[in-house]
Amino acid sequence: MAVENCRYCTRTTDIMEVVAELEVSILYIVKDQSYRGRCILALKEHKTEVFQLSVGEVEAFGRDMAKASKAIHEAFKPDKINYAAFGDTYPHVHFHLVPKYHEGKSWGGPFELAPNPDKFLSAQEIAEPIARLREKL
Ligand SMILES: [Zn+2]
Repeated sequence: MAVENCRYCTRTTDIMEVVAELEVSILYIVKDQSYRGRCILALKEHKTEVFQLSVGEVEAFGRDMAKASKAIHEAFKPDKINYAAFGDTYPHVHFHLVPKYHEGKSWGGPFELAPNPDKFLSAQEIAEPIARLREKL
């Protein structure tokens, strides 16, 4: 059941834009592209812990994760993708998919979780990485 004040239930686009709807999840791109290609993969349904998913949902989410991370890899050629799930503020199951680059921001350490609104791309600017990702999905 959708939760009213949940960013992922309401599909709020304050910090991110929808890239694509996958099997059981939605792939978003984060408007702050300090880590080029940074995305969030969120379960369509509001569940707060991975163990609440059925076996079929876990498998489908795994396929979505593989598909999304492969698209990120092919579209942006990072040296590594970081995968992180926190959810203290928005407990809806979602993973941060953060491309990292040798000599790039936060290489060898954790990425900066909070996107910086000063660095948000305009709708016109974000269209390019969205198109690049959609082409690879
Ligand atoms: Zn939710």
